[in-house]
Amino acid sequence: MKILFLVPLLISFLNAEWLIVNNDGTLSSYNNTPYENNYAIPKEDINDEAELSTTIIVKKHKRTNKRKKRKIIITDSKVRDKTVYLTFDDGPLNGTQNVISILEESGIDATMFMIGKHVEQNSYRKRLFKRAINDDNILVANHTYSHASGHYRRFYSDDSRVVSDLRKMDRKLSYYDPLHTQKICRLAGRNVFRLPHIYKNDPAVKRAVEYRCYNALKNNGFKIFGWDYQWDYSPKNAKLKKTPRQIVNIMERLIKRGRTKKPNKLILLTHDFTFKKRFRGDQKLRELISLLKERGWGFETLENY
Ligand SMILES: [Zn+2]
Repeated sequence: MKILFLVPLLISFLNAEWLIVNNDGTLSSYNNTPYENNYAIPKEDINDEAELSTTIIVKKHKRTNKRKKRKIIITDSKVRDKTVYLTFDDGPLNGTQNVISILEESGIDATMFMIGKHVEQNSYRKRLFKRAINDDNILVANHTYSHASGHYRRFYSDDSRVVSDLRKMDRKLSYYDPLHTQKICRLAGRNVFRLPHIYKNDPAVKRAVEYRCYNALKNNGFKIFGWDYQWDYSPKNAKLKKTPRQIVNIMERLIKRGRTKKPNKLILLTHDFTFKKRFRGDQKLRELISLLKERGWGFETLENY
């Protein structure tokens, strides 16, 4: 989502809400974006253990260098005209199990940005974390240890705190994933890029103190990935706002108009908790993937961006 402009004059008429012009030309309220200081994962997803009783079949994989080898052999993205980097944030949570199962079913590559404190919440979530790591098509990447505990301004006021938070999650990934070498991460609540050839701050944040945090991470070897477009959801109930077809149409327009960070490549941000069975979230993810396949998109993890 790109902020083209904020409309201060409208604020007083619209209940003090800021407006954001989305990439597809629609308007959404500032409070509905993850930039809001107290944005948090829906509470029911933190505490609701309703899905705990579900049996998890943990696939037993032989840990090999399959991922690395396969990436060298397959250079699909070079021949395809468009590649999607599906990213799933904030797991392990309710919804994560559906995401992993659907990714396994469809055999596509994708990246899951997970949160350290969610992994530690209970043994069910730890098993989901390990299951994703053991899947050769899934790259599990760093989405901070604490997710800033929902207080972004405070979190991003201290670069050493930010670096140690991400290092803590990095150690967890190294412990469980012998193939974990690239320090790929996404910041909590911030659409920031710090890559060798892409340097981009979050358009909603104008604070030099935050830029210091991002740069400190980069200096510590982290590769920070934001996103080109977000599959937005209602903050009240995590219901997805657009249909899979609308999302694919928007993605294709963005590619056509050259409005992604890299030509013919699109990073899509989604959240695990939107893919629960409630509101047919799991079905919508299946539909999105099959539409993308139908229309000739290639799928890659962010290791190959
Ligand atoms: Zn997040």
